Amino acid sequence: MEQHYDVIIVGGRPAGSTLAARLGKQGCRVLLLERADLPSLPAASSPIIYSPALKLLDEIGAPESAYARNTPPIRRMVADNRLGSMTITIPEAHGRDYGYAIDRARFDAALFDHACTVSGVEGRQNYSVIDLLWDGDRVTGVVGKAHGGQEEHLYADLVVGADGRFSLVARKAGAKETDVHNENPTSLLYAYWKNVRPYDNQGALAVAYEGGYGYGLLVMDSADGTTAVTMEGQADVMEPRAGATQAFYLEKLQANPKVWARLQGAEMVTKVHGMRRIGNLYRQPGGPGWALVGDAYHQHDPLDGQGIFNALFSAKSLAWAVRYARRDQMTWEEALAWYDETVRIKTYGMFRRTLESVRDNLYNNNREVPGWAVIGLRWLLEDPAMHEMMGKLLTRQIPAEMATIATPAILAGALVRGPLREFRKRLSQWGVPTAG
Ligand SMILES: Cc1cc2nc3c(=O)[nH]c(=O)nc-3n(C[C@H](O)[C@H](O)[C@H](O)COP(=O)(O)OP(=O)(O)OC[C@H]3O[C@@H](n4cnc5c(N)ncnc54)[C@H](O)[C@@H]3O)c2cc1C
Repeated sequence: MEQHYDVIIVGGRPAGSTLAARLGKQGCRVLLLERADLPSLPAASSPIIYSPALKLLDEIGAPESAYARNTPPIRRMVADNRLGSMTITIPEAHGRDYGYAIDRARFDAALFDHACTVSGVEGRQNYSVIDLLWDGDRVTGVVGKAHGGQEEHLYADLVVGADGRFSLVARKAGAKETDVHNENPTSLLYAYWKNVRPYDNQGALAVAYEGGYGYGLLVMDSADGTTAVTMEGQADVMEPRAGATQAFYLEKLQANPKVWARLQGAEMVTKVHGMRRIGNLYRQPGGPGWALVGDAYHQHDPLDGQGIFNALFSAKSLAWAVRYARRDQMTWEEALAWYDETVRIKTYGMFRRTLESVRDNLYNNNREVPGWAVIGLRWLLEDPAMHEMMGKLLTRQIPAEMATIATPAILAGALVRGPLREFRKRLSQWGVPTAG
């Protein structure tokens, strides 16, 4: 018997699962197909998410008690380097003053399970899509196969590729790529650890440390007392020999004595995962009978930890586009154009900013800094206005473009406030009482 659905979604992690839940709530009959057996870690992802992503999950009723089970809220991000340390307190946004360094295996499985509780959504794991079915230039379904099963044909009005960076749907449909940026490629390695020594005694946090030449380290408190230890850097620097990834990872961690000290007595509880030469691009959002969502549609360097938000936001926008088209409020072409524009408005500024951060922090950070500039940089690092702006950027309360406009003003302010702080510090060292 021919199996026909309103929508078949290929890929059942953040983009696919949340799209399925939204479409199910809109009354669509949805088939959600995932190659992996969940819970399992995705191909590569470090795990930081902030309140705007959590708000998108609230909208579909995804239970925080499941996707963030036993995961400590992160209320502080610290940059700890040779100039000093900067603490960003996560500002309140959407009723939360915290983010999480989630366990991606748990998070993704909880979202998939939640989607399957929505009426009209059928989910299958261990199921690989291997091809698209066509009627002329229109996609009409997929060729798929349960693990160990027979190939079968499944039909739908719409096939959505939520199948990540190396999207089969995008490839088979011939989706065009735009805004491709390969000029400063990065690679990332990560593993989860247990019994990592705490940074301080003030609760869970994420700490960014300097690595060695061309790479940085991020240590984040995660679920069940684990700690995610991540490194990202220039692709040519982060190039382990075949079969020597773990040794390479450990050697790079040793470069920072503070990180290495925290790992003494700790145990690595997952293997080292990673991704080489992470892409930056947008793809054509869809065509007749097909669409792309999440990383399949837009890929963004992970340096600023915004990928899950982008995946969830594109799922929300695509669900609206499907609704407009199904209600004949727009043609499918108009709905796709609306979807593309809506997601770009929300993501493009941060995309450009992340590319600039990669260039400045991972590629151009090896220059000799003159002594006077070190003092200025330290003032900036310690400046409360800078901390506030960073917190608002991470939680998307100010557009990314604002950082470029606001930085000169903050820089000027820091150059005034910095010496005053130093002066107050001196006075208090000499025992003179100071205000503030
Ligand atoms: C190294 C790295 C670190 C990152 N760190 C962060 C971070 O700290 N914070 C953050 O917010 N984002 C981060 N991201 C981005 C984030 O991981 C992605 O944006 C997010 O996972 C995208 O979700 P998705 O559902 O679109 O795709 P994915 O999570 O990639 O899921 C795609 C799914 O499709 C399935 N699939 C693929 N092909 C098929 C097929 N043919 N048939 C059936 N199923 C298929 C796969 O099994 C997979 O489960 C990082 C990304 C990378 C690469």
